[in-house]
Amino acid sequence: MAVETSTAGLDAAAIRADFPVLAEQVHERPLVYLDNAATSQKPRAVIEALQTYYETYNANIHRGLHALSERATAEYEAARAGVARFINARHAHEVIFTRGTTEAINLVARGWGDENVGEGDEILLTEMEHHSNLVPWQMLAKRRGAALRYIPMDVDGRIDLEGYARQFGPRTRLVTITQMSNVLGTITPAAEVVRVAHEHGVPVLLDAAQSIPHLPVDVQALDADFVAFSGHKMLGPTGIGVLYGRESLLDAMEPLLGGGSMIRVVELHRSSWTGLPDKLEGGTPNIAGAIGLGAAVEYLAAVGMPGVARHEHNLTEYALAQLSDLEGVRVFGPMDAEDRGGVISFYVGDIHPHDVGTLLDADGIAVRAGHHCAQPLMRKLGVPATVRASMYLYNTADEVDCLVGGIARAKAFFA
Ligand code: PLP
Repeated sequence: MAVETSTAGLDAAAIRADFPVLAEQVHERPLVYLDNAATSQKPRAVIEALQTYYETYNANIHRGLHALSERATAEYEAARAGVARFINARHAHEVIFTRGTTEAINLVARGWGDENVGEGDEILLTEMEHHSNLVPWQMLAKRRGAALRYIPMDVDGRIDLEGYARQFGPRTRLVTITQMSNVLGTITPAAEVVRVAHEHGVPVLLDAAQSIPHLPVDVQALDADFVAFSGHKMLGPTGIGVLYGRESLLDAMEPLLGGGSMIRVVELHRSSWTGLPDKLEGGTPNIAGAIGLGAAVEYLAAVGMPGVARHEHNLTEYALAQLSDLEGVRVFGPMDAEDRGGVISFYVGDIHPHDVGTLLDADGIAVRAGHHCAQPLMRKLGVPATVRASMYLYNTADEVDCLVGGIARAKAFFA
């Protein structure tokens, strides 16, 4: 083991004790969970927040005058305020709860896009977007007669900033870009992307599904207009996510869901909407999920995001060095850990990624193999799929060693 697993302010062993599932055995081996880009594990604090809600104050929010409903409402809104603090939003009502990143992006594509993008208009994005930040824009472009334009980037996901700046024209309406690639791990220069777009009066949506769980993100410092992320990738429950939006943009947006909670007055032939955030959260929301996400951001804030980022940076540096020492292993994305997060995609010789994944699973090692919802990027890389190992705050250098050992065994198996 060549790196410190404990960096200042982060003790991975103590953190691991907070995550019950990490003590599980898989195929009679200790679980090595390296599939965090797909979803993260949950600390006891999150599991208990869900249990306490269901056991002691389960009620619908906003509408009841009774004690349980008042408590549920207070905890739901406290979770919103906690998320707003976590990303440094100016106002809690700039945090809209959604089902996840996918719904958050679709909400913008419908609620903002249908009002602001028309025939001949252009949306700038990259070839490394997750399908969630690609398909909704294709759908919008089809509805409105608009076009998608791709920001030039190299095969490691590094944006050509000069080429990007040259793409702006009178019809550019939106830039929508991932802050961290879920395949290459590449961290995009989000602040610079926003700065250039704003020089042209164009708003920017950041897909922060892979960044907010792992890096300190300050939406005001980035000056981002919309930021989408998922609770389940940041220690929270599934079925809850966030659309952060600048107040003025959210105010002007049309709701995606009409129904309860989002109205001011309903008449037989028309209705009017209430204010933020309820206008964009029609129907009974995922109350337990939001409360669980509130507990997750509290947990992450207590650990400290700079420490989380440093720990994952050390592990990534170690893993990249180990993997590049393995003959026949091709790692995708930047080899400098400064430019990337702890998402590492690779190919082992000419063994199909699914076979590598299956053999690693037999050793108790959970990784993902597939196209990772990024088919255009797979085409650019010239592979049908990759194996992807992805880290989080509870992973250790010993687990990286297990991964490297497992890959060596997979190579030997197919030799
Ligand atoms: N964007 C990125 C970069 C992702 O990695 C993911 C999930 O893998 C998503 C969007 C979609 O997130 P969800 O499925 O939680 O909506």
